[in-house]
Amino acid sequence: MTLRLRDELVTTAKRMSELGLTPGMSGNVSVRSPGGLLITPSGMPYTSITGDDVVELKMDGSARAGQKTPSSEWRLHRDILASRADVEAIVHTHSLFCTTISMLRRPIPAVHYMVVLAGSDAIPCADYATFGSAELAIEAVKALGGGSACLLANHGMVACGPNLAAALRLAAEVETLASQYWHAAQLGTPHVLDRDELLRVRARFAEYGQRKPPRR
Ligand code: 13P
Ligand code: ZN
Repeated sequence: MTLRLRDELVTTAKRMSELGLTPGMSGNVSVRSPGGLLITPSGMPYTSITGDDVVELKMDGSARAGQKTPSSEWRLHRDILASRADVEAIVHTHSLFCTTISMLRRPIPAVHYMVVLAGSDAIPCADYATFGSAELAIEAVKALGGGSACLLANHGMVACGPNLAAALRLAAEVETLASQYWHAAQLGTPHVLDRDELLRVRARFAEYGQRKPPRR
């Protein structure tokens, strides 16, 4: 089980890097494990990591000796997993447009209906705190509320999901949304969809896509 999760974590981190969401060695990925959480190692290029580099942490932050140093953002990952029973995996990136907007310390408003995929009417921006700090973890949990994504002021973004693939998919969706918002804002003030419209969008999404075949 843990072996499979380690491999999935590595695949997700490499994919995140290939998608261009994490310049340099920025960003990190975690997934809930039977003993706590698995997280990417600190300061290692994703091209070179293997399952052996993945660090297993208990929820109190302690780790078995002999493992790599865990991501400096382990508290952020741990606090989100501890406060949200619905979250199984977390992706943190410094992707270009999310980070650009985070520098303005502004949320991404509902300028496109896809914003509902993040579980809120706007993608909030967490207050600033130093990277790797307990304060940053607290601010991220606060900003997320019951949603699945937020920006981190002057830093980047966080996306959560029921599994690693979903968390990465959402991180990429939110980056696309941030890019579209930034581009529209160059031409004027983008229109923001109102609450009633977002309710209609949620109802549409509830029946969007392929129907599941009936169970026999
Ligand atoms: P790590 O390499 O320690 O995961 O740090 C990257 C990062 O994005 C810090 O915010
Ligand atoms: Zn970061």
